[in-house]
Amino acid sequence: MKTEYKEPCCFCTEINNKKMPEDFIKKSGINNRIIYQSKNFTVLPSISPLNVGHILIIPNSHITNITKLESELINELNDTFCYILSNNTIYKNKEFVFFEHGIFEHGTGCGVDHAHIHLLPVSLSIFNKIITSISKHYSLLNSSFESFFNIKNPSSYLFVGNSLNNVFYSFHNKIPSQFIRKIVAEILGSNVIDWKHLDNWSDFLETYNSSK
Ligand SMILES: [Zn+2]
Ligand SMILES: [Zn+2]
Repeated sequence: MKTEYKEPCCFCTEINNKKMPEDFIKKSGINNRIIYQSKNFTVLPSISPLNVGHILIIPNSHITNITKLESELINELNDTFCYILSNNTIYKNKEFVFFEHGIFEHGTGCGVDHAHIHLLPVSLSIFNKIITSISKHYSLLNSSFESFFNIKNPSSYLFVGNSLNNVFYSFHNKIPSQFIRKIVAEILGSNVIDWKHLDNWSDFLETYNSSK
C-alpha cells in the first residue's frame, strides 16, 4: 500500500510497536489493545468509547482517508468487518453503525489524520436518528459501500452506514472536527463527546475483553 507517512503518527507507531502509548497502558492495564489484524488492517477498541463495542478499523499504512485505499484492498476491508461482526460477542446478532470523517489532506476530521472507521453496536432506530440528525446539517447521498469506494479523490466527506448496501455520505470542505462522533454521543447520551477526554476505560476494557 502506498504510504503518506510524514511525521510520527500515533496509529502508525502503535501498529508498528504493537503497544499502546505509556499513559494509556498505565490507565487501562493493557499493553497491546490490538484485537484483530490482517495483512493490511488493524482493529482496536476505541480508547474513548461511546458505548461498549466501539471499535476502530484502521489501515496498517498511513493514508488520510478510506477512499485512498487501493481498490484490491476493499475485499480485505470487507472481510475484516465480517470477522468482527461474526466473532465479537458484542456484535452477535446486533445492528450497528460505522462511520468515517474523511479528510482530504492533513486536517482535523477526527483529530487524527490516519484513516479509521468507527464501528459501534446500535439499534436500527438509533441509526435512523443519526441519519436524521446529520441530514439537518448536510445533505446525504444514499448508496452502497462499493459505489462509495468507486468515487476517486473526493473532497472531505462524512461517511456513515449500517450495512454494505446502505451507506450515506456527504462531501463538504468544512466539516467540523468529530462531527458524526458528537451526534452519535448526543443520541447515545454519552458524556465522552470529545475522544481526547479519555474517561470511559470501563467500556474500553469490556470491549477489549469481548474480543479475545
Ligand atoms: Zn499513521
Ligand atoms: Zn475518528
